[in-house]
Amino acid sequence: MEETFRFVDDLGPAKIIHVSQPSLGLRATLVVDNVARGPSIGGLRMAPDVSTEECFRLARAMTLKNSAADLAHGGGKSVLYGDPAMPREKKEPLIRAFAAALRGEGDYIFGPDMGTDEVCMAWVKDEIGRAVGLPREVGGIPLDEIGATGFGLRHAIEAALPHCNFALAGARVVVQGFGAVGKHAARFLAEVGAVVVAASDSRGAIHDPSGLDVAALIALKDQGKSVGELGRGRGLDREAVLDVECDIWIPAARPDVIREDNVERLRTKLVASGANIAVTYGAERRLHEKGIVSVPDFIANAGGVICAAMEYRGATQAAALQTIAEKVRANTEEVLRRAEREHCLPRDAAVALASDRVRRAMATRRFAIF
Ligand code: NAD
Repeated sequence: MEETFRFVDDLGPAKIIHVSQPSLGLRATLVVDNVARGPSIGGLRMAPDVSTEECFRLARAMTLKNSAADLAHGGGKSVLYGDPAMPREKKEPLIRAFAAALRGEGDYIFGPDMGTDEVCMAWVKDEIGRAVGLPREVGGIPLDEIGATGFGLRHAIEAALPHCNFALAGARVVVQGFGAVGKHAARFLAEVGAVVVAASDSRGAIHDPSGLDVAALIALKDQGKSVGELGRGRGLDREAVLDVECDIWIPAARPDVIREDNVERLRTKLVASGANIAVTYGAERRLHEKGIVSVPDFIANAGGVICAAMEYRGATQAAALQTIAEKVRANTEEVLRRAEREHCLPRDAAVALASDRVRRAMATRRFAIF
């Protein structure tokens, strides 16, 4: 009993559902954290090493992210155990079966996350009629194709600049995880004059202090290759991007990449989290002590879910991008101002802002979190 309820606090989670179908090798988990603001939206993550704990922490990040972005949605997340690169003939039945098992779970709306994409969401929509992050062909705004989250990151970074001591033109950027979020963040930042000096993916990393060709890196990834195969610059071990001197360090891959045991290695002025729960609390504290500004994940990377919520209501792509820019900028400014005023970590300021908004919604409900 204690084990089952080990994550519970006053915000959630409302439900944890484990799904299995041995004939397909399906093992998956849904965490619905808090739906006081409305049905939860959160991504479906597919990876061999996911866990219920990771799922819960990501669901909580969605509760805070959706409320910080003032969306009429609560937070949830789902995880599917397996290799996301498996052949489509195996992957599609798994995703369809997981969706079918959650057909009646109207408190959760599937979205894409690591290991899943627009096509996966089209399968879910076809199966149960409820998904966001869809391809255009079925009425979606393909948020990874247009780079909604990377676009928001650029705006978070611009809004954070008054708190940092450098200009965006010529700023050196490191991107850890050159996937859907990382590559578009690199593209949008390069468009406004920043210089990407290092990038990594699960297979390697590349470093060139004079700047990497972002378009060439994206083309490499589109061919299924690693950034390490660029052929220019210096190849690095993927973990070595932590040591690359820069102005902006962007985590855009897995959780807990900046921890107390490696935070001292960072030589940067600004951390803007594309990935969810990429920086541990202890590491956030150290960053603050060292004068490194950190824009928390659920403030900086809200672009994707803002786009998804707008899609769910039938908005256009242009309207979604404009809303992302407005909301992410306003929230970044508010969080950093509040942190300065209250002498606290930006993360504490962000959690206070988001959880105040959740609690105000909870106060209107008979059962506060579901
Ligand atoms: P993705 O699968 O498209 O890309 C992830 C990238 O990280 C890949 O290039 C992969 O090779 C790389 N990677 C994996 N492990 C790595 C490691 N140990 N070191 C370096 N690189 C590594 O996923 P994504 O959609 O870009 O999501 C990345 C992160 O951003 C996740 O934490 C996700 O939850 C978060 N996020 C995504 C969105 C979105 O719109 N896609 C929105 C908000 C947050």
